[in-house]
Parts: sequence; structure tokens; C-alpha cells
Amino acid sequence: MKPAPFAYKKVRTLEEAVALLAEHKDARLLAGGQSLIATLNMRLSAPSLLIDINGIGGLDGIAHKSGTVEIGALVRHAQAERSETIAKHAPLIARALPHIGHAAIRNRGTLGGSIAFADPAAELPACLMALDGEVDVTGPKGKRTVEAPDFFKGLFETALGPQDVLTAIRVPAASKDSRVGFAELARRHGDYAIVGLAACARADGKGNNSRLADVRLAFFGVGATPLRAKKAEAALAEGNVDAAVAALDLDPQDDVQATAAVKKHLAGMLLRRVAKQLMEARA
Ligand SMILES: Cc1cc2nc3c(=O)[nH]c(=O)nc-3n(C[C@H](O)[C@H](O)[C@H](O)COP(=O)(O)OP(=O)(O)OC[C@H]3O[C@@H](n4cnc5c(N)ncnc54)[C@H](O)[C@@H]3O)c2cc1C
Repeated sequence: MKPAPFAYKKVRTLEEAVALLAEHKDARLLAGGQSLIATLNMRLSAPSLLIDINGIGGLDGIAHKSGTVEIGALVRHAQAERSETIAKHAPLIARALPHIGHAAIRNRGTLGGSIAFADPAAELPACLMALDGEVDVTGPKGKRTVEAPDFFKGLFETALGPQDVLTAIRVPAASKDSRVGFAELARRHGDYAIVGLAACARADGKGNNSRLADVRLAFFGVGATPLRAKKAEAALAEGNVDAAVAALDLDPQDDVQATAAVKKHLAGMLLRRVAKQLMEARA
């Protein structure tokens, strides 16, 4: 199908983007276009204007500073995959990136677009939740920062207002005690996940005496937003994987990919895999 007719404007500044969003209430921002164009083609959305933000300078950097990794909204998935800074200082994101679509999609799709779109089965929103990251937003009242748990509000719904532009995401940089785990199940590699899990923890102590602390588990594909599994986190911090699986209190719905019962079963399986990754790495 072809999209409904729309006007197109490429902007060079954030101010221009915000002003155009105020002027055209049904306008949409265009970043990599990998999700937006599909929704236009399927006529799920028919904005009168597309505001192309790819010409705005300063939104495509990756920086390690003051104990954090900051990633500009226009950084492409492929650029992030090749980044040594991300590999070294944001290893959970590095593990998740190859699971996003296929190479052609990762060449165009942006990290900002992925977080703003907030698909419940997407990898990066879950990573942001697991890492307790934050998002920078510029809107009509200037710049603000939103923490991940406050950002994801519901199904494809975020804290972004109609005139807001997401400009960067920030996550704590990994330390030598950091442990990360990532696993997902999809019908084929590159498909959106049926169920996935992004996790991080801190190794407390050394060798056989070490334990996991600050465990954070963020499941995706099992709810409207990425979901922390706090009871399972506590059990894993006690070193009890069976108890962690038993404590999973996810309540997924049936969808086109799997029934709720299958999703629950798969979530438990993924938790075992990810727990192994977290524990093996800590010795
Ligand atoms: C076949 C296929 C398979 C895919 N598989 C996966 C997958 O497995 N996992 C996954 O996570 N994704 C997948 N994607 C989506 C891909 O990751 C997209 O890159 C991402 O969802 C959106 O990024 P984008 O830059 O393309 O955004 P766009 O498509 O340009 O925009 C998406 C939405 O976000 C808004 N937006 C974009 N940037 C900003 C911003 N800076 N501030 C505010 N709003 C903004 C747009 O207005 C639009 O509403 C897939 C896509 C396709 C076509």
C-alpha cells in the first residue's frame, strides 16, 4: 500500500522541529523511518507533515563521560554496533543491538527512534529499564530529563509530549563489577521478540564467595512496556534461580506470536539462561 499524501520538511535545528510540531498538530518526526514509514504505508497513521530531523547537528554522538554513556538520538543501530565505547562501557546495549531487525534496518534505524516508538517487543527500551537509564527531551519549555521507569507509560505510549523531541539517552557506564545478560526468543533471527530479557547486576565479592547484587531484570514482549521482575530479582540476588523463576509474576496476554501460557513458560526459560550469563561472568 502507498501512504496518504503528506508534506515533507527537513529541519536543521531542534527549535525548528519544536516550532513546526506546534504549528502542525498532526505532524510526525522522521528519524530512520524504519517504523514510521511502515505505519504510513499501512495507513495506520496519516500525518499531514513529516519533519525530517536527520539534518539536526549534534544528535549522532556517542560519549563516555562522568560515569555515563550518552548516545545521541540519531545514532543508527549499526553505528552503535560498531562503537568501541558502547562495546566497552555499555555492554548490555552491545549485546542487544544485533537482535534488532536485519542489517538494512539497523543501517537506518536510530536509537532515539526505537526508544520513542516504544514497541513493547523492542530490545532497547528493555535495556534502558534494566540499566536504570534516562532520556533527554527538548520541547516547547526547553530541555528536561526523564528516568526510564517514568518514560514508558503504556502500549506505544511514552512521556514524550506532542511537541517533544528525544535528543539523547544516557546509561550508567559499566564498571569492572558490572554483569550483564541478554536473551530473546523470536521466530527467526531479526524478528521482534516473542519474549526477551535484558538484565544487569553487580558482582559482590570474588570467586566462589561472590554474589549478585543490584540485580535488575527487564522483560519485553510480555506487557505493554518493558517490565521489571522485582521478586525474581530479589531471589536471584540470594543465588536461587529456581526461586527466581517461581517468583516471576508476569501476566502476559495472548498475541499473534504465542499464548500467554507459552510466553510465561518462555520467560522462565530465558530467566535461567540469563541467570547463567550473570553468574558465569562473575567468577
Ligand atoms: C522488518 C523490520 C523489523 C524490525 N525489527 C525490529 C526488532 O527486532 N527490534 C526493534 O527494536 N526494532 C525493530 N524494527 C524497528 C527499528 O528498530 C526502528 O529503527 C525503530 O523502531 C524506529 O527507529 P527509526 O529511527 O527508524 O524511527 P522512525 O521510524 O523514523 O520513527 C518511529 C517513531 O518515533 C518517532 N521518533 C523518531 N525519532 C524521534 C525523536 N528523536 N524524538 C521523538 N520522536 C521520535 C517518530 O515520529 C515515529 O513516531 C524493525 C523494523 C522493521 C521494518
